[in-house]
Amino acid sequence: MISLWREFQPLAAIAVTSTATFRLQFVTNLWVPASLGNIPGTRVYQGSLKEHLATLWSNHRALIFCLATGAVVRLIAPLLKDKSRDPAVIVIDEGGKFVISLCSGHQGGADKLAKLIAQQLGATPILTGASAALQLPGVDMLGVPFGWQRGPGDWTEVSAAVVRREPVQVMQEVGTTLWQKHLPEGHQFSFHLDNDKISPKGRICVTHRQLSPESDIPQVQWHPRVLWVGIGCERGTSRQLIERAITEVMQAHGLAEGAIAGVATIDLKADELAELCRDRLFPLRSFPAEMLRSVTVPTPSNVVEKAVGTPSVAEAAALLAAGAEPEASLLVAKQIFRTAGELGAVTVAIARAAVEYTGRRGKLLLVGIGPGQLDQITPAAQTAIVSADALVGYSLYIDLIAPLLRPGQIVEAFPITRERQRGERAIELANWGLTVAVISSGDCGIYGMAGLVMEQLRSSGWDGEIPIVEVLPGITAMQAAAAKVGAPLMHDFCAISLSDLLTPWEVIEKRLHAAAQADFVTALYNPKSANRTRQIVTAQQIFLQYRKPDTPVAIVRSVYRESEQITLTTLDKFLEIPIDMLTTVLIGNQSTQTHGDWMITPRGYLSQSP
Ligand code: SAH
Repeated sequence: MISLWREFQPLAAIAVTSTATFRLQFVTNLWVPASLGNIPGTRVYQGSLKEHLATLWSNHRALIFCLATGAVVRLIAPLLKDKSRDPAVIVIDEGGKFVISLCSGHQGGADKLAKLIAQQLGATPILTGASAALQLPGVDMLGVPFGWQRGPGDWTEVSAAVVRREPVQVMQEVGTTLWQKHLPEGHQFSFHLDNDKISPKGRICVTHRQLSPESDIPQVQWHPRVLWVGIGCERGTSRQLIERAITEVMQAHGLAEGAIAGVATIDLKADELAELCRDRLFPLRSFPAEMLRSVTVPTPSNVVEKAVGTPSVAEAAALLAAGAEPEASLLVAKQIFRTAGELGAVTVAIARAAVEYTGRRGKLLLVGIGPGQLDQITPAAQTAIVSADALVGYSLYIDLIAPLLRPGQIVEAFPITRERQRGERAIELANWGLTVAVISSGDCGIYGMAGLVMEQLRSSGWDGEIPIVEVLPGITAMQAAAAKVGAPLMHDFCAISLSDLLTPWEVIEKRLHAAAQADFVTALYNPKSANRTRQIVTAQQIFLQYRKPDTPVAIVRSVYRESEQITLTTLDKFLEIPIDMLTTVLIGNQSTQTHGDWMITPRGYLSQSP
């Protein structure tokens, strides 16, 4: 199973016929009834499927059936609870033509999983959720990539208003507005706050505040995690008192607990807060007294300074964790809590960060999409593209993969020369916690973005682990071009880029001599551009010093794209054919031959005795 499917683990599949078993063989955890006998790679359940399903239901995130939809509906009906808890349920027909996202399409991820499986099987994904048809992210999903927490609200009604294409007002006070910039054209979200102008039928509030659930129109609340809770406490203060203090401060100031990013304190106290933070999944940021001292705060204290060496713990730590002013602002100045008869005291202050904490571990997927046609992209690369929260790439390549994109994805297309900016942007988003796919044509590690991104990571002090990096290979132009003309790469070969923008021309020339002399079949990348016309002429002259004028050469332009052009010619004449930056030139070795429209480099089989 492809590692990118990790987010759906534990996952189980169920087949009750041998055809279905064959169809689902790509799933590692595949259950079959005892009546089918022992099939390698499957697990056998005893008794009825109904009973067995009851044991799988609550401890799996996704269930895949290859069974009639009606049968699946009857089987799962008694088990369904609600869409925030039920596993993703997928149904595949025995013919392997359709992959249906049956339930938990949004929060359970069934829509995404159905798309991934459909790509794997070459099937059509069936997503019947109305927002998918409108190319909109689900109302209950739009904050997920940024780690936002769902607050109270009428999620069903607001979602219904969106899919009825009624105006839905967005009131966003905090958190990234990136999602707003990537909505499809003609969407009905309105960012005006003047109700009379738009008469909204629903409202999405993106806020750190706990708004009243009462509202004139159906309303939902998303909470970006922007609040850093600074805590100072006397030694021995109970966990209950600390938790009560946090809750009371949040309530008193109308703040939403869902918006808490994490806890901040002085390093001396970190151990006292560790357990609470672990249980509530709050990151704990602790700072030494010298750092805390440097922060200007509204309520410094001499007593605190004498005790721990800084006049402020709660306020200063909250501000430092939130990114210090001016980006951060102190929302709640120090509040002191103690209870009569109970040991200890706790101080709480709250600062708001400019950027939300996502709570996610970022990932960079360096993806090669092959030469251009969708079916030349590996299934793993397709999976990577579908699973990414954000995609970064050259606009032409983004257009090529447009049919794979999902509603809600952040797609940042850059002009051709902006490689460094693309890399920096991808790293920035991944460091923030997103899964980012960087798109290269061909193979991303062959004159592509993979090397650049990894160099940029290395020079920015990357520890090799976070963000996680995964490189997904693609079919490079040389292979695609070779396939179109037959088998020119059957013997030792090399690739040389004629672009001297990043490599000194003397180095390129030296390599051309060496390749020609050593009789490598040679693929020339970046052979010629509007401003670079001389290099290909020199390359021809160099090869003519070592190879016969009638050595076969293939000029392959825009391979696997609409404007594909392929010409077989010879070394002495190939400059008569138009060559540009979308062309790869393949030069045969001494034994390469042509046969009709084909180019063949013998490996030597036929010169051996049989
Ligand atoms: N990473 C890419 C190469 C990028 S360098 C890969 O692995 O294929 C850009 C050069 O690749 C172009 O100048 C051209 O020489 C070659 N190229 C890329 N796509 C091509 C295509 N569809 N047809 C022919 N050549 C192509």
